Amino acid sequence: MIDVVSYLPAKRKQTPSGWINFNAPCCQDKRQRGGLKISENGWSYHCFNCQFTASFILGRTVGFKARKLLGLLNVPNREIDLLNLESIRHRSIEGILDERQQVVNALNDIKFEEKDDFPPHVELLTPEHTAHWKYICDRCVPEDYPIMVQMQNDGVHWTRDHVIIPFTYNDTLVGWCARMLSGSGPKYINHSQPGYVFGTDLQKYEWQHVLVMEGIFDALCIGGLALMHNTVSDAQARLIRSLGKEITVVPDHDAAGMELVDRAIELGWAVSMPAWPADIKDVNDAVIKIGKLATILTIFHARETNRLKIELRKKQLAKLVS
Ligand SMILES: [Zn+2]
Repeated sequence: MIDVVSYLPAKRKQTPSGWINFNAPCCQDKRQRGGLKISENGWSYHCFNCQFTASFILGRTVGFKARKLLGLLNVPNREIDLLNLESIRHRSIEGILDERQQVVNALNDIKFEEKDDFPPHVELLTPEHTAHWKYICDRCVPEDYPIMVQMQNDGVHWTRDHVIIPFTYNDTLVGWCARMLSGSGPKYINHSQPGYVFGTDLQKYEWQHVLVMEGIFDALCIGGLALMHNTVSDAQARLIRSLGKEITVVPDHDAAGMELVDRAIELGWAVSMPAWPADIKDVNDAVIKIGKLATILTIFHARETNRLKIELRKKQLAKLVS
């Protein structure tokens, strides 16, 4: 087992509560705001500058964020792979659940290629990238999701006008998308794989329900899934079903969203079209304007499984949005 502490910067200090503090490798930190805490069966890391978090528990696979941190600490890739193998040998209950999901995936033929093809000069978003940081905060993205920014070619000067959202599946990096902050061109550049659904890694094992939406920011702000368009491909439907949860589609309140409702009916999934104020057209708008809890409550209140009632509600809403 690698001794992660031996890879930390030499300049570090230990707090009475067990945190080891050092200059955070995830951002340009010079004030020892990176904290690592060793536990009985692993460790957790928190950056008090850029809010990046990562953790490792013996018995589970080494996730995307833990790999990222170990890489930043210059742990060789070979060491990380060995750690992963050794960890899986100590299967814990979480490890067994991970493994069960992998069997379900194999049976359903769900697999994505690991891809580390970020554009050049990409680094983690921090409060120092003022405009990008504000954009992400304003859209209610959880602080610990590793959003990236791309620096100009010299890697030092101002950042480019977009944020990059890593796509993971089972904590492995499988793609990304760039969201433009301004300009008249396309809003998104998508590097995704066929059948991919964003947000499976945001789901918690104990959650009974899963919410399916169109947009990535909808999924991020509420812990749901994003289809990234207004329909559900057969491969996406298989992946969503493989999670073994109660599925509810929450369409955008626009004409395209109404097409998603038809597909949800076809798949036999529940649909929720809450009676939000007219200026709210999707889940991200709702979280921004009425808060996360109220959004979740309105979604579950309006959840409908009866086909006729879904059609009726769709007709009402279609009139309002046309
Ligand atoms: Zn940091």
